[in-house]
Amino acid sequence: MAWLIRFKARSLVSAIRPLRDALDSFHCSQSHFSDCSVRSFPRKWLVSGSSSSPEITRSSSVSALKASSNPLGLEEFPHVNDHEEKLNLFDELKQRFLSFKKHKYLEELEHFQSLKEAQTPKFMVIACADSRVCPSTILGFRPGEAFMIRNVANLVPPLEKGPSETNAALEFAVKTLEVENILIIGHSCCGGIQTLMRMRDNGDSSFIKTWVTNGKIAKNRTESAANHLSFDQQCRLCEKESINRSLLNLLTYPWIEERVKKGLLFVHGGYYDFLNCTFEKWTLDFKGSSDEERGRILVKDQQLWC
Ligand SMILES: [Zn+2]
Repeated sequence: MAWLIRFKARSLVSAIRPLRDALDSFHCSQSHFSDCSVRSFPRKWLVSGSSSSPEITRSSSVSALKASSNPLGLEEFPHVNDHEEKLNLFDELKQRFLSFKKHKYLEELEHFQSLKEAQTPKFMVIACADSRVCPSTILGFRPGEAFMIRNVANLVPPLEKGPSETNAALEFAVKTLEVENILIIGHSCCGGIQTLMRMRDNGDSSFIKTWVTNGKIAKNRTESAANHLSFDQQCRLCEKESINRSLLNLLTYPWIEERVKKGLLFVHGGYYDFLNCTFEKWTLDFKGSSDEERGRILVKDQQLWC
C-alpha cells in the first residue's frame, strides 16, 4: 500500500508542478495584486521532500490517502482538499476580479462601455493553451484588441484537414471581424511540441496525438535538418518550425491568401521564451513565399524583444 501512495504522490508532484510554476510566475507579474494573498492557495498544494520520496505537507491529505479503502488511493484525492481549498481558490479569483473592476474597468469605463456596440480587434491571436503563456499578459492586449484562440501547440491545420475550432475561429476573425493581423504565438518548453517530437506511428489515436499530427511536417523537417542535436534542442527548433508551418497553412485558406496578397492582412509569427523572457517576432514575406516555394518560408521584419 505504501508504494502505491508514493507512486500516486509522485504523480501528484508532476501534475501540480506546472500549476505551481505558473502561479508563481503569475504572482510575480501581477504586482498590483500584492495585497491579495495570492501565494496562499498554491502553497497548500505543494509537496516537499526529494523527488524520489515526496511527502505531502498537508497532513489531512496524507491521512485521507492512508485512510482510503480504494486500492488506487489518490483517485480520491480531488475530495480530500475540496471544500476549503475550492473556497480559497475562488476567493482569490473574486479578489482579482474586483481588483480588475476597480483598477481597469471603472478607470477605463468609456472604453469598456464602447465594446457593447461592436468589437473591432486589429489582431487575431492563435497561441498555445499552455498555462504559462498568456498573450494578454505578456503583450498587454486590452479587451477588444485581440480575437484570440488557444489550442495545443498553437497549430493551424491546413484547409484539407477539414473543419476544426481553429479554422472556424479564423473564418470569423478574417471574414466577419476583418482583422488586419494574424499572430501565431509559440513558446519555449512546449509540451505539445514534445509530444509531437516523441510521436511514433504506432496507432495511438489519443485526442492530443491526433491533434499534434497537424505539426507533422514541422517534425519531419526538424528531424531531417537537426537529427544530430539533442532531443531538447530539436524541440526548440520544432517550436519555431511549427509556427512557420502554421503560417504557411494559413495561406491554404483562399479567403486568407487573397487578403494577404492584396496587403489587407498580414500574418506574423511570435516566439515567447519564458525562461529568458524574450519575444521574437517576424512577419511572413508573402511575395517571397510563392506557391512554388511553399516548402520554404521567407520572413521579414524580424525582431527580438529582450
Ligand atoms: Zn505549448
